[in-house]
Amino acid sequence: MPNYDYVCTQCGHKEEILQKMTDAPLTQCPQCQQATFKRKMGAGAGLQFQGSGFYGTDYGSKSSSSPDKPSSGGSCGCGKSSCKS
Ligand SMILES: [Zn+2]
Repeated sequence: MPNYDYVCTQCGHKEEILQKMTDAPLTQCPQCQQATFKRKMGAGAGLQFQGSGFYGTDYGSKSSSSPDKPSSGGSCGCGKSSCKS
């Protein structure tokens, strides 16, 4: 479960709150009780991006037109478009 940084734009109260990704973001500040409690997009959003990014890496690997000469991919010759070398 990721930690989310919240900050209140009304009173400036900051709090780290442990939430599930499926939980709705909080809006009410526990200090001043105003609906000005905002979730900051920080480490939690980064983790989400990393976890969901892998699905697109092998998208074009099936369409290799020349088997002996990889047109896409790095200079290592592995033929994978996801190869970073
Ligand atoms: Zn507040």
